Amino acid sequence: MRQMIEDIELEVRYTAEMIGRHTLSDSVIDAMRRVPRHVFVDPALLDQAYDNNPLPIGYGQTISQPYMVAVMTDLLEPQSHQKVLEVGCGSGYQAAVLSLLVKQVISLEIISPLADSARRLLKEQGYHNVQVIQADGHFGWADQAPYDGIIVTAAPEEIPQPLIDQLAPGGHLIIPVGFHGIGQQLLDIYKAKDGSVSTKKRLPVRFVPLTGGDQAY
Ligand code: SAH
Repeated sequence: MRQMIEDIELEVRYTAEMIGRHTLSDSVIDAMRRVPRHVFVDPALLDQAYDNNPLPIGYGQTISQPYMVAVMTDLLEPQSHQKVLEVGCGSGYQAAVLSLLVKQVISLEIISPLADSARRLLKEQGYHNVQVIQADGHFGWADQAPYDGIIVTAAPEEIPQPLIDQLAPGGHLIIPVGFHGIGQQLLDIYKAKDGSVSTKKRLPVRFVPLTGGDQAY
């Protein structure tokens, strides 16, 4: 674990210019320290649980690299009174990290067995402020909108409009966008208090594709 935190901090320093910070906030590093990543990885890969790498979680999906989880969480600027939406629950690891930093986490997952296992695991591990919903995150989750922040952990080719609509003023939407295998960028989309939206390109990234989205919004 200590090595994982050091690896994250080192990679943050290497990428400081792109991500706009030399260090991550203490609260985010603390949350990364507190979540046992080994619980969220395949038991066959236990010896790699604290490596700074993505790992397979079945169904062609991955648990994100710890550095990426930490940076995306930091870019969100989470605060303890907030409600945030995650699209792409996967193993539930990112949701667990967020749950220590905000009041409420809604996490959408399109693959039913992954949603079921993440829901069960998060409950077992005591992350009671996370709600896992099996749904296509292209449409966000209008029932509980607006959200103080939104994190997307799979890459669409274009930003789904419902996610922008469901973001509260003053909130960040952190989302990888682009074509699989060609070039995706991690975007930090900020909705100002007056509702105007600005976008900062942060990092070249590599995420699994955001599937679904077949119907018109
Ligand atoms: N945050 C996860 C990373 C999982 S990888 C973790 O910490 O483990 C991305 C996840 O997004 C996959 O589980 C994939 O099934 C899911 N996904 C892909 N398209 C989706 C969509 N349209 N709606 C919801 N989830 C989606």
